[in-house]
Amino acid sequence: MGRVYNFSAGPSMLPMEVLEQAAAEMTDYKGSGMSVMEMSHRSPVYDAIIKETEADFRELMNIPDNYKVLFLQGGASTQFAAIPLNLMKNGKADYVISGQFSGKAYKEAKKYGEAVCIASSEDKTFSYIPEITPDMVSEDADYVHICYNNTIFGTKFPEVPNVGDKVLVADMSSCITSEPVDVTKFGVIYAGAQKNMAPAGLTVVIIREDLLGNAREDIPTMLDYKIMADNDSMYNTPPCYAIYVAGLVYKWALKNGGLTAMKERNEKKAALLYDFLDSSKLFKATAEKRSRSMMNVCFVTGDADLDKKFCKEAAEAGFVNLKGHRSVGGMRASIYNAMPTEGVEKLVAFMKEFEKNN
Ligand SMILES: *Cc1c(COP(=O)(O)O)cnc(C)c1O
Repeated sequence: MGRVYNFSAGPSMLPMEVLEQAAAEMTDYKGSGMSVMEMSHRSPVYDAIIKETEADFRELMNIPDNYKVLFLQGGASTQFAAIPLNLMKNGKADYVISGQFSGKAYKEAKKYGEAVCIASSEDKTFSYIPEITPDMVSEDADYVHICYNNTIFGTKFPEVPNVGDKVLVADMSSCITSEPVDVTKFGVIYAGAQKNMAPAGLTVVIIREDLLGNAREDIPTMLDYKIMADNDSMYNTPPCYAIYVAGLVYKWALKNGGLTAMKERNEKKAALLYDFLDSSKLFKATAEKRSRSMMNVCFVTGDADLDKKFCKEAAEAGFVNLKGHRSVGGMRASIYNAMPTEGVEKLVAFMKEFEKNN
């Protein structure tokens, strides 16, 4: 089997051009006589890589100068602890629980202070995004935490919620760089890179500078944003190779029209799938219309055995990793930036054929 259409939720597809460039540079990066995996993170060659990666990311996301970009490890899950440890000055924070990951973030925050659940969509198995208004926010909350795109349930905030003058913290693991976002509306944005940006091992944090320096005294050094920022993400060895690949992905996105073009393409791909699902007699989308994710499209047939048959036959036809998250079942097509439109068109054609035969 050659290259497949890989609908994995993460780690997920990377652009073919990026893989080819990484392969071409694998054993001898730009005449250095070694691969990026083998070089010192303190070498001038690597220093140029990380600086260029940050500059390209800033350009792509239009990140203002008063925000720091941190390249960290530990996945988005480590940030569930780092956020309260760094930001809970008054020991209180609000959480919106719109899926499994935001629930985990809430549970972790409870270890370090008072975490308040101000809204949840658990009543309907997280099939929608709860409405947030400024009056719901706790007066003395240090921040409000949301998960902007819920990878497992295929929902996304239709717009940035209004939390008044509170600091908004967003887990954007599965939607970062999928469309333009106004960074100034957030205090912190964080993301595991393995969904839409890079291989696993890299976690990106974007933080407004005035939020640095408020960490608890007993915070582990490696989780202290200020220490990481003061050391340009080089307090210790950063995830060198993943940062290098992220840099290639940012250049690819910039070359292909930046986030405005990414959004246009992603909307088109998502519409292909949702329009078919809405007209299908066999398949049904599980997320409520106004909360639908452009990145993770969840659907079911209503019959677990038929779901299983669909995933099996799809995989045989070259459409792999369509099985839904182990906690929810059904199907999920993750269609990140690197998934070509053609992959979605072919999947829809396959689904139509499957519907006819079943
Ligand atoms: C995948 C994911 C996580 C967990 O990321 P890790 O890097 O595995 O810790 C957290 N939040 C969201 C929204 C995700 O999609």
